[in-house]
Amino acid sequence: MRAAVLREYGEPLRIEDAERPEPDPDGIVIETDACGICRSDWHAWQGDWDWIGAKPPMGHILGHEPAGTVIEVGEDVTRLSEGDSVAVPFTLSDGTCPECRNGHSNVCENLLPLGFADPVPGAFAEEVHVPAADQNAVTLPDGVSPVAMAGLGCRFVTAFHGLVHRADVDAGDWVAVHGCGGVGLSAVHIASAIGANVVAVDLDDKKLAKAEELGALETVNAAETENVPRAIMGITDGGASVSVDALGIAETCQNSVSSLRRRGQHIQIGLTTKEERGSVELPTDAMVMKEIEFVGSFGMQPPRYDEILRMVESGTLDPSAVVSETVTLDDVPDRLAAMSDYETMGIPVVDTF
Ligand SMILES: [Zn+2]
Ligand SMILES: [Zn+2]
Repeated sequence: MRAAVLREYGEPLRIEDAERPEPDPDGIVIETDACGICRSDWHAWQGDWDWIGAKPPMGHILGHEPAGTVIEVGEDVTRLSEGDSVAVPFTLSDGTCPECRNGHSNVCENLLPLGFADPVPGAFAEEVHVPAADQNAVTLPDGVSPVAMAGLGCRFVTAFHGLVHRADVDAGDWVAVHGCGGVGLSAVHIASAIGANVVAVDLDDKKLAKAEELGALETVNAAETENVPRAIMGITDGGASVSVDALGIAETCQNSVSSLRRRGQHIQIGLTTKEERGSVELPTDAMVMKEIEFVGSFGMQPPRYDEILRMVESGTLDPSAVVSETVTLDDVPDRLAAMSDYETMGIPVVDTF
């Protein structure tokens, strides 16, 4: 089968003929119909994230945002059949650890990140294996396109989980979103769909215009603004109730925390880069005195996808609005390279393998 394979960190992924997967007894094989291209793939390609054990080995197939059709089913799988349309979260879980049993499989103690770690090759490939498939695959309702589902990817669901499950966003609250890449634009769209007033921050006017299209009431161009937190304090009359770092660099993380009003909540969505290596200095005394919360968001549990799907069905959310373009597997190396200069807009999705 054709696949985009990592042969050297930072060098273009190679489109190669790879061995097709066989299902484990509890696994399925899906034919990939669509797969989002994400800044997390860019980090993997750069060889980042060794500090969290997510630096992929040489020869790994990248890609972690698939939707596809089940073509093979392991003998122990009970819930899925050939021909089912499924999406697959990147947070592959075992279903048996205490976190999974308590309904928090996105932070499974034995989590395998699809497309990053050795035992789980990714979905920039014609076929992909899904272990513990009853636990991990999300069955799609009729009428939801694979491209829209791939657009949910890791970004849309992580933004949804952060804003809806991890923080307390009330209608009319100010929500600031720092960084308007795929996850940032998803956060803008979701926050405004649940009734928040959104202020979006980025360096690129085109991304800010897209944020306005998706519901942002106000925008701040950080390239033209000396003090971003002060600008947000002004717009929101004292600070945002919830603020999101949707990029994962020290500056956006610190700006986000400093944009909050008293008792505000910061949601960290992006993982950090080679610069920070997982640690960012924070204004802890101010956070204590203002009772500010720092909240992480990492993927989302498969059973909770229904919440998004119901909002898609009712027309309140439209993940495809964040999908910027559809491309072929052969375009993946180029689209990843374009992320080095922040040239991609929204979520590009591969739909031809
Ligand atoms: Zn688990
Ligand atoms: Zn992703």
